[in-house]
Parts: sequence; structure tokens; C-alpha cells
Amino acid sequence: MPTILMDSHSARSIRRLPHWRPAVIALIALTAVTVDARPVSAQSSARLLAPLLYSVSMPAPESHYAEVEVAVPAGPGPSFEMMMPVWSPGYYRIEDYAAHVSDVRARTADGRVLEVERSQKNRWRIHGSGIVAVSYRVFCNQRSVTTNYVGADYAVLNGAPTFMTLVGPPGKRPHEVRLSLPAAWQAMSGLATPPGGRGDALWADSYETLVDSPILAGPLHVGEFEVADRIHHVVAAGDMTGWDAAAASADLKTFVEETYRFWGFLPFDKYVFLLAFRQGGGGLEHMNSTLSTVSARMREGGAQERGRWGSLGLLAHEYFHLFNAKRLRPVELGPFDFEKPPATGSLWIAEGLTSYYSGLLLTRAGLRTPDQHLASLSNLIAGLQNAPGRLLQSVEQSSLSVWENSNSGINPTATTVSYYAKGNVLGLLLDARIRRITSGRRSLDDVMKLAYRRYAGARGYTADEFRGVAEEIAGVDLRGWFKSSVASAGELDYSELLEWYGLRFTASEGRAGSWLIERRPDATTAQKRNLEAWLRSGRP
Ligand SMILES: [Zn+2]
Repeated sequence: MPTILMDSHSARSIRRLPHWRPAVIALIALTAVTVDARPVSAQSSARLLAPLLYSVSMPAPESHYAEVEVAVPAGPGPSFEMMMPVWSPGYYRIEDYAAHVSDVRARTADGRVLEVERSQKNRWRIHGSGIVAVSYRVFCNQRSVTTNYVGADYAVLNGAPTFMTLVGPPGKRPHEVRLSLPAAWQAMSGLATPPGGRGDALWADSYETLVDSPILAGPLHVGEFEVADRIHHVVAAGDMTGWDAAAASADLKTFVEETYRFWGFLPFDKYVFLLAFRQGGGGLEHMNSTLSTVSARMREGGAQERGRWGSLGLLAHEYFHLFNAKRLRPVELGPFDFEKPPATGSLWIAEGLTSYYSGLLLTRAGLRTPDQHLASLSNLIAGLQNAPGRLLQSVEQSSLSVWENSNSGINPTATTVSYYAKGNVLGLLLDARIRRITSGRRSLDDVMKLAYRRYAGARGYTADEFRGVAEEIAGVDLRGWFKSSVASAGELDYSELLEWYGLRFTASEGRAGSWLIERRPDATTAQKRNLEAWLRSGRP
């Protein structure tokens, strides 16, 4: 349990609060009686830093504005700085969140107006001390999964573009949020309620958690299911045309069960699928939630099966991320500096292998057929093999330079390669290689599980450590494979993949061109067994 101290300066401040709104008074009272408000340097690391307590309202949502007021334990002064992040973890693009913030004002506990100065593009210096109320407006009319939207229909509040925080040395500082919503609205997120506090408040143990927990509010459609005693909420807002919540939730549950079967555990208390049905597309992974911009529409069913939700594959990808990327992660991806984006060469693992496994687990779960899986791989390989950048840039370099090039690595240019696509193909090839080397006894599944056990803690893995785990499972030196496939931009060798599973490439008139994968009619019994083991169970 953290040390709880009463700061005398804060306590004095609370006794004279006649000018403040009741909500802010409550925030200040909570600040003062529960935590240490001294500067971080004056505290031991075991102590819990004083929380920031936000009150967010949207009195006229059709204006697209959110009003934020935050009680800040600023310390002894004479001034302090507040900042907005310049990026959101998981989305590798610089964002100018501060540009949407206006009317930044600050007052002392007794209502005295303090000077606010824009000290940097994303920072404000406030001349004052003690408990200070900072208020500002945020314009919210964007529709990506890392920005905000407030409208008459619903609201998406992401942590980084909404919550200004106190600049200071790193430390575990709780952040609490109270929302005032229009009538008949509710809010859902991955955040918890405050320990021992109000049930209608949202609580994050650190700023990182707050930024990692988007909030969806509105007249929401909320469903739920349980897997392994863990509740999963399926929360939707926006254009519900075509939404079949029961069918989509049933398929999500089937995928979650397969993911649970793969890992053997679920590392959270609750998980929230936040679905904003609107124009555009994309999802972002979080520790115990995902926010996705998707369509509600279902795909047409065939003679053999009912229609499925068109965004099931995207949601499967985001869900697998809670293991791979959010917990098992490259060493560079955490803890985060929200003003200084990190660079890693391992996004082919975090993103590419997530795509590889979300597709594979959809197939193992029976949510698509083995033939549909092979067709999807044909498209994937054709897309990569027809991209000229694959021979100009390694997947490692693509990952390292994501901040300079395409839209978070998704759309390669003529001179770059996508670490999503090539990383996915590398998963396919490395899996086949390990299965062949070990005569089908081990696989990339074992690599992921051992890597998780070893590195899914506070530190993460280096590129060499991940390779080391793969070598340990395979029982051979894989430096040559990693050098030619990951660190180089040469052609990939598919022969081992085709040989192990009894497959071949054939020409087609469709998008796959000459990269259409099909089963060899003369495949041996062993090859058929290998294919079955890979696509059905992961085991021989
Ligand atoms: Zn992803």
C-alpha cells in the first residue's frame, strides 16, 4: 500500500474555498487528505504522488467542445508547467493536440487569477503554487482513434488530446476523472473506479494508464460476455445501421476463447471493445480496451455459413495486441515520454506477428475456413511481392523510420516496406522454419509464449533477446535468417513454407497474380498433417 501523507500547504488551501464550484472543492479535498503533494524529488519512490483530478463536461456537445477543469497539486512554486502529449502510444505519428486547446486559465484556491504563459508549443507555465485549478476548452471534431470527437450523437475522448498533465520527474501519479454528461448518456472505458471513492468517477494509477484508456460516451449500446471469468464489454456508439450485436459478440467471444486457449490466461480484470461506428477505419490497442473506428455492417453470408461482422478481423488484431505489444513489447516501447516519441526496430514483431496470429487464431477458432486463410495469405504475399520498396528497405529500417514515413507504417511508398505486411509474412516463414527444424514438435507459438513469460514485465525485450528465444525454441542458430529476413531488404525464400505444408504457388487472374497459394494435389500424408496441425490446433 502506498504511503499516504497530509501536506500542510494543501490542507491550508482547502479551508478557504468559497469561490470554487462544488466539484472542484471535492477534488481539492480528495487531493489534500489522501496524498503527498510535495515535489517528487522530496519523496521516496514508494510514495504515491498527489493525484490530478479532472472534471470534464460537454454542456453543448453539438458545438464539439469539451470543457476541462483540473485540480493540480502544484507544490511550493513559484511556477509549474502543464503539458499535452505530442503522440499517442501505438500510433506512430506526431500529433498537435495542443492546437485544439484554448482558453487556458488558472486560479488559486481562494479564487485569485494566475498568469498563464505558453512556454512551448505543447506546454503552459503557470505562475502560482499550492493547489491550482486549471481550466481549458478542447475542440473535438476529429474522427481518428487517437483524436477526440464530441457531437450531439456521442463523444470519443482519448487521453492524450484531452488531459493536460503536470510536468515533473517520472513517478506514479494517479489521475481521476469525473464526467458531466448530457442526459441519457453514459460513459465506458477500461478505467477503474477510484479505490474507496465514488463509483461514478474514473481512476487511473498513472498518466500512462489514463492515456491508455479512451472513453466512449453517449447513448451507448452495451453488451457483454465472459471468458475465463473475465468480463468483456462490447460498447457501440454512432451509426448503428446493420448492427447485429448478438452475432458480432458471439464471434468476438469465439475469438477470445481461442486466444485464451492459445495463451492459457487473460491478464486483466475486464476488457472493453469500444466501437465508434463512423466514417473511416482503424483501431488502436490498449492494455484492457480497444477503440476502433468501424462500420456496423455485417458481411453477406454464404451457403455454408452466416454473415459475419466485417470488422471482426480488425478487432481480433487489436485484442491479440493486449498480449503482443501492450505487455510483451520491444524494450524501447515503454515507459513512455509523451513529448519524445521512441524508435524501435521491432515493430515487425509487435504489429506483423500480431497480424499473423490474429489471422491464424480466427482460423483455428473456425471463424474462417482454412481455404479462406490460404486466400488471405495469397493476398498478403502478393501485396508484399508486388511492392518495389521490399527490395529497398528492411523491415527493421521501416520500423525505425516510422516517424518519418507513411501513415504509422500502414501504407508503404515506392521506396518503403510495411512492417505490418512483411512482419506478417515473416511470422509465416519463421513458424514454418521452426516446425520443419523441430520436425513439428515446436513452433512460433512456443516462441511467443516463452518470450511472454520471460519479457512481458516492466522492461521488454531487445531484438537480440527475441531472436534468442526463437533460437532456444528452434534449437539452432537463427542469426542468418534474422539477418537476411529482418535486417536486409532481399527477396524472401518461400520454399520451406511450401515444402512443409504441401503447398504451391499458382498463377491467378485476381489480385494474387502468380502468388496464389493452393494445396498440392500430390501432398504427402505428412504434409497434410502439418497443414492441419498449423491451421486447426497449432499442435501436431
Ligand atoms: Zn496493430
